[in-house]
Amino acid sequence: MFEHLQAYGGDPIFRLNEAFHADPRDRKVNLTIGLYYDEQGRLPLLDVARRAEEQWAAKGQPRGYLPIEGLASYRSAVQKLVFGADSKVLQEGRVATIQTLGGSGALKVGGDFLHEAYPNSEMWISDPAWDNHHSIFRGSGIPTHTYRYYDPATRGLDFTGLMEDISVLPEYSIVLLHPCCHNPTGADLSDEQWLQLIPVLQQRKLIPFLDMAYQGFGRSLDEDAFAVRAMVDAGLTFLLANSFSKNFSYYSERCGGLSVVCKSADEADRVLGQLKAVVRRIYSNPPSHGGQAIASVLSDESLLAEWAADVETMRQRIAAMRKHVHDRLKELAPQYDSSYFVKQQGMFCYTGLTKEQIQKLRDDFGVYVLESGRISVPGLNQSNVDYFAESLAAVVA
Ligand code: PMP
Repeated sequence: MFEHLQAYGGDPIFRLNEAFHADPRDRKVNLTIGLYYDEQGRLPLLDVARRAEEQWAAKGQPRGYLPIEGLASYRSAVQKLVFGADSKVLQEGRVATIQTLGGSGALKVGGDFLHEAYPNSEMWISDPAWDNHHSIFRGSGIPTHTYRYYDPATRGLDFTGLMEDISVLPEYSIVLLHPCCHNPTGADLSDEQWLQLIPVLQQRKLIPFLDMAYQGFGRSLDEDAFAVRAMVDAGLTFLLANSFSKNFSYYSERCGGLSVVCKSADEADRVLGQLKAVVRRIYSNPPSHGGQAIASVLSDESLLAEWAADVETMRQRIAAMRKHVHDRLKELAPQYDSSYFVKQQGMFCYTGLTKEQIQKLRDDFGVYVLESGRISVPGLNQSNVDYFAESLAAVVA
């Protein structure tokens, strides 16, 4: 019956990760997969999350279905986190928010919702992109294209190219944007650049879809949401996906949110109904375990402060590793411009290494970098960062 199907090629990132684990060398460094590791190279389980889970488990609650849209306390905590606790748009009831299966689930539900609301709209995604963006939205039936984003010459943002491409899109085109910590390049728009882009989105009647998977890993939880809040201030209608996979270290709990900012409370009610209709036909309702823990942490002032401090620790560790590589490279390869390590922000660094250099890093040094040249910075720690800088200096020499 299924003889005609092709074998699934697998995900290139997971494949490379497997190759790393199969590599018998003692000295090796894995910078492939986008996970936050601590200084000991472990995936953290945040103590504040563990305590919240234990407290909930101790209550011995039955496991009835959650509402289609998710836990009310979770949805409200998500709104305060992404829009700001005192946001006017929340007081006015103009945001429809649902609990989703991670950030990916938010993108999928948002894609299905948009394709139904605007069946002729197509989508523009940054070049380069997180590959799954194209797959998810095409899966929703939305044709996808790219807009210019990255300038290999500066290893930074091509803001002129981005503005030129976005300024000519047809009305009601969907534009996927990363508010912070762009995956894969680590190159972000500055606050001033957002303020230049927002009027263009508005004048051309475009539909922004913000994907915020790394809130707190760039500057701070609040500053990383600058674009979100600036769009609210400008009165835009837009979608926002957020994820707790990284900043709560809750990868397998599949916790995220989809928020749609609307013109009125009445519109938000109708949008919420349509989001529920989409969820109902895909997976009916979300799971409760991780969502319960997040809701109890985020709705308690002192637990929230503890979690925010944990996020800040993760953010600072990433920034410290970036600076360490930059400083070491300045000594080891002074002719090589390594400033991009500190100009880019968040988990990912786009090195611009050639295919040959990437191969040499793997073959000669056991340093695993994605084919695109992206490295996941939290794979570095005090015990391997010098080795990485030395290996990189050797291949760029
Ligand atoms: N968007 C971007 C840009 C991402 O990098 C990721 C995670 N790699 C996601 C969405 C998906 O997040 P989640 O794991 O929560 O589904």
